[in-house]
Amino acid sequence: MGSHEQGFATASASPRDLLYFETAGSQNHKTAWVGRNLKYHLVPGSLLPPQPLLFCGEQGWRMELERGWKSAPRGHELFGDHCPPASLSYFQTRRRIPYQEAAVQEFRPTQVGESFGPTWETCWFKVELSIPLAWAGQEVHFVWESDGEGMVWRDAQPVQGLTKEGEKTSYILTRSLKESEPHSLTLYVELACNGLFGAGKGSMIAPPDPDRRVTLSKAELVVFNRDVYELLVDLEILLDMAQLLGEENQRSFQALYTANQMVNVCDVTDLSTLPAARDLAAAIFSQRNGESQHTIHAVGHCHIDSAWLWPYEETIRKCARSWVTVLHLMEHNPELTFACSQAQQFEWVRSCYPGLYARIQDFVAKGQFIPVGGTWVEMDGNLPSGESMVRQFLQGQRFFQEQFGRICSEFWLPDTFGYSAQLPQLMRGCGIQRFLTQKLSWNLVNSFPHHTFFWEGIDGSQVLTHFPPGDSYGMHGRVEEMLKTVKNNKDKGRVNHSAFLFGFGDGGGGPTQKMLDRMKRMSDTDGLPRVQISTPDQLFSVLEKESSQLCTWVGELFLELHNGTYTTQAQIKKGNRECERILHDVEVLSSLAVAQDRAFQYPASQLQRLWRLLLLNQFHDVLPGSCIQLVVEDALQYYTGEQGVWLGGHSPVGAGLAWWGCGGSNPGQPRTLVLNTLSWERTEVISRPGPDGTETLALVTVPSMGYALVQEPFVPPQPVAVRKQEDGSITMENGVIAVCLDTMGHLTSLQLLDSGRESVPDGCYANQFALFDDVPLYWDAWDVMDYHLETRKPVTTLLKPLEITLAGGLRGSVRFSLQVGKSSTLSQEIILDAACPYLRFLTQVEWKEAHKFLKVEFPVQVRSTNATYEIQFGHLQRPTHWNTSWDWARFEVWAHKWLDLSEHGFGVALLNDCKYGASAHRNVLSLSLLRAPKSPDSTADIGHHQFTYAVMPHQGSFQEAGVIQQAYNLNFPLHMVPASCAQCSPWSAFSVSSPAVVLETVKQAEDRPEALLVRLYEAHGSTVTAWLQTSLPVKEAICDLLERPLAQGHLPLEQRGLRLSFTPFLVLSVLLLWSP
Ligand SMILES: [Zn+2]
Repeated sequence: MGSHEQGFATASASPRDLLYFETAGSQNHKTAWVGRNLKYHLVPGSLLPPQPLLFCGEQGWRMELERGWKSAPRGHELFGDHCPPASLSYFQTRRRIPYQEAAVQEFRPTQVGESFGPTWETCWFKVELSIPLAWAGQEVHFVWESDGEGMVWRDAQPVQGLTKEGEKTSYILTRSLKESEPHSLTLYVELACNGLFGAGKGSMIAPPDPDRRVTLSKAELVVFNRDVYELLVDLEILLDMAQLLGEENQRSFQALYTANQMVNVCDVTDLSTLPAARDLAAAIFSQRNGESQHTIHAVGHCHIDSAWLWPYEETIRKCARSWVTVLHLMEHNPELTFACSQAQQFEWVRSCYPGLYARIQDFVAKGQFIPVGGTWVEMDGNLPSGESMVRQFLQGQRFFQEQFGRICSEFWLPDTFGYSAQLPQLMRGCGIQRFLTQKLSWNLVNSFPHHTFFWEGIDGSQVLTHFPPGDSYGMHGRVEEMLKTVKNNKDKGRVNHSAFLFGFGDGGGGPTQKMLDRMKRMSDTDGLPRVQISTPDQLFSVLEKESSQLCTWVGELFLELHNGTYTTQAQIKKGNRECERILHDVEVLSSLAVAQDRAFQYPASQLQRLWRLLLLNQFHDVLPGSCIQLVVEDALQYYTGEQGVWLGGHSPVGAGLAWWGCGGSNPGQPRTLVLNTLSWERTEVISRPGPDGTETLALVTVPSMGYALVQEPFVPPQPVAVRKQEDGSITMENGVIAVCLDTMGHLTSLQLLDSGRESVPDGCYANQFALFDDVPLYWDAWDVMDYHLETRKPVTTLLKPLEITLAGGLRGSVRFSLQVGKSSTLSQEIILDAACPYLRFLTQVEWKEAHKFLKVEFPVQVRSTNATYEIQFGHLQRPTHWNTSWDWARFEVWAHKWLDLSEHGFGVALLNDCKYGASAHRNVLSLSLLRAPKSPDSTADIGHHQFTYAVMPHQGSFQEAGVIQQAYNLNFPLHMVPASCAQCSPWSAFSVSSPAVVLETVKQAEDRPEALLVRLYEAHGSTVTAWLQTSLPVKEAICDLLERPLAQGHLPLEQRGLRLSFTPFLVLSVLLLWSP
């Protein structure tokens, strides 16, 4: 390889010989030769960014080939003359400010080569440009290179993003400079001191380096030689064809020989020879395919994580930078289509960049800028509740309808960590029958068997589903990606069309001109798949036509990776569960308040704002906990801050509750009203704050979705008995269950008193904490690897032995504490209430670990090959064995409020109030409690945690035993308010006749104060008819999840209420119109 003589392509060359390079002096400075005399100069970091790797030369040398033609004589380079800005000045700010505020600041002179920072600051540059008169007729670019994310502003409007990592370093000022054009102009560049992927120190997902600075390495005017550029794109495609089509394909040789001929006719000292070379390329590109060729539907895309390695606020600018660049491209490429998801991001741009938004609306109307997805954000696909999932669609689709006049017909979620088996039904209920995703290609163990298939959910609903077979949502339009798309496609015998999403993504960026120019050459070229710029609708329409032979996948789309995201950032998970509960309760209580007092103002707009905050936090890097510390802070603020859902000063929670109280204390007659927001009667022990900070207990029975007064005296049917044994162990029983706890808080016995059936196997401990080493291969916050299971260490260091804290009666409780790991502590109060079928574990942890995983285990005396897990509006089963790779890849799974292991006639359920990670292996139920990853947030989960779980042994099936209802009860405590005089006898607004049916949601219908919306679902997995009874003055109709009336029209209200028919896991929404 010493002399370039060896590198000449000759008539007998094979594709592998085509490229050859020599090192010219230094390692970073390489020259590539193609054929006889076309020379590429390779300088990493020069004007054009690196291209994917090519293999070349007989030794299979790898090199980064940059298509700069620099070593050719002057004037024949990609970039010709250049000149610096007339002046360059800047000012710096910590805040992300609007242009109007920035433009009036005092700008100080600066120069190329300076660096700016630190991380997350913003520099605004004022760039005065003066284009040389001699450049008349030339294409002139403003070239800007820095390692921050830039946005060019011109005439007070954003015009283009400039981000080197996204291959956007030049802004086209004119395609052909005319004398009449202004030669002097002022641009502003807003430069964020962070990269496309934040500011990770050392690796992308490392915590951000707070002291990173960005360097301005280039700011100048240049003459762009478009002929040279086009020739280079021609050559790139030909070289890729020559290399990638393989020696068995004659097209590779034809491409090679054409490239060689082009080199021969092209004299680099004479630009007039270029057209002849380009004609040769055009001739081969225009040789067309046969009819049978696969068609690739290329759709521009830009995946923008709504927060991840950067905070929410930066995402707003990422959207603007990426989208304005897309519009700029569309102006010059009217064929370009761009699929854009996440209503929240549209809303951000609408409110922060109204000028840009108006232009987007124009391109939406033209059908080029295509809103997709139908959801508020691209949410996590596992953890949000059923109602949250509905609201993602409800808020999203309503936004798209309102802003663009149509709802989306495809659900778009390329990048999340698994997909709930309830999603098909929710999609269909929201006007969506098509689904696009890609992430399952990340499966670590099993390769998913389809790219185009019908996905069937737990209720039997089906959606046509497509995974872009190239396994990416950020393609670059290269030959290699096209070939991979066809080769990978597992359903290519069944359908002949695939999606291809091109454009830089994750951190934003989007498509580039070069991507489009590559694909133009591949539109119909023999040997390559047909590539057409298309739309999601065109793709799915043709897939629908060809769908007769497609296979069906039933049940969840489980991602065999990132299973730590069910547990990481426990406070975010807890905030999510709590806020889902709060919004549920506020909606129920406000609706019931309207029923009682039609003058009550339902807090519709406040609720919409709070729902949108909660939905935003369900974004697929926030709720899963795979984000940086700044994002965690923002997210917790949205839950609990001043304006947040939880306790915010303007929260409607207080108002909704206050309406139910008498509005003040009533010292003469302290009566307490207890409110139940669930759709069944509950008998529970409540704890009321008494005078002097003491608490008094009471046993109450409250009707479904209604209220009752606390009645005195409190007589439990069977009091809780708590006894300490000689060995220090403590027994508790309440007439339903009897438990025995040893001094370390282990449950050594858990019996159902009716049958005497024991739940804990002989010699086993339930409520056993265990600590695991938790060191993933790379994705720290994301992954828990199967090998962590080999490092199990039971927690055995006792700090305070078990002691009785409440001696019984209405409630018995005991307490103990443990040392966990080196420096963490755990204390637990174990509570048994009168009449309660479960034992509750109120847990506090001071967590200070690194790369450890804390779980609690319940070995149970149950044998079953399947365990049951609650999911959105239903449940599903997963195996308890590891027979096949598909089974053991699910060593860590997710559940919502409960999981259950049952054999015929008996089972044990584990309930929780804010956890999602779980597993059931053989006869051990485990709940995943806390992790301690260090990337991308080095402080993740360190600190105080409080959570509750409960164990419930039961006779019969979990359905018959009411596990589902008990898990709701644990999550939705009864509310207490001081009673007013009017509320005397118990009152119920709604009840449902069948225990199989859960009335989940009661709210005011969207934009319809005259109607209530109630949502019910079948929870047992059964076909059942149920009566919805109500005491409210309403008449009724069925609607879909978007609250649009269905064709079957009104359902009559009969004596017993509303008769509703359910099939397994069916979700029904009913609009109830208030009677006048
Ligand atoms: Zn993402």
